[in-house]
Amino acid sequence: MRILVTNDDGIFSPGLWALAEAAAQFGEVFVAAPDTEQSATGHAITIAHPVRAYPHPAPLHGPHFPAYRVRGTPADCVALGLYLFGPLDLVLSGVNLGSNLGHEIWHSGTVAAAKQGYLFGLSAAAFSVPLNGEVPDFSGLRPWLLRTLETLLLLERPFLVNVNLPLRPKGFLWTRQSVRAYEGVVIPGEDPMGRPFYWFASRPLKEAEEGTDRWAVAQGFVSATPLRLDLTDEARLQPALAHD
Ligand code: MN
Repeated sequence: MRILVTNDDGIFSPGLWALAEAAAQFGEVFVAAPDTEQSATGHAITIAHPVRAYPHPAPLHGPHFPAYRVRGTPADCVALGLYLFGPLDLVLSGVNLGSNLGHEIWHSGTVAAAKQGYLFGLSAAAFSVPLNGEVPDFSGLRPWLLRTLETLLLLERPFLVNVNLPLRPKGFLWTRQSVRAYEGVVIPGEDPMGRPFYWFASRPLKEAEEGTDRWAVAQGFVSATPLRLDLTDEARLQPALAHD
């Protein structure tokens, strides 16, 4: 199996190399990742200028995989990775330093990179861990990465799955995406030149429901949510079509 590993935190992120090393248990691993952090860039693609890629040397510790450092978005990295290393069977994105739960799936560059692979007809999965000011213990998480990959590879292909791991997992659960309403918060400030700036934040209006991704990780479980690309609201479409 030929596996592309990418992320949105950039090629120097320890999560990327932890995922590449876990993936190497299942096949031949190739890496194409952004040269700088691209978190929260979603499924952006570069069209206004050409994308450059540079062969990337091995990290000081751990095995070497053929790797490119890409001046582009996570989705660019997957498109380019397929061109440089293809054909591929699987795209793995992460391990992101920061959860991608519930509404975060919408703007996540990590999930978008997996989505990009799925759009090319490949199986794909995104992996994330919470960022609580604590450096994740990737050697402790390795058995859970391996176990999760084993589980995913039993699925009918192609699949698209969003995986979130707590820092110290106690089990594995299939989940659905948490959907809850938020209250937007804008906190204004002033820079040293007296110019205004704004921080965007948000507060959830409800607790996460049982069975959701956010609930599972809060309970200490690895959460795996199968995703689909068709966002059509069937419940609205069918009556609308019947009225025509
Ligand atoms: Mn990120």
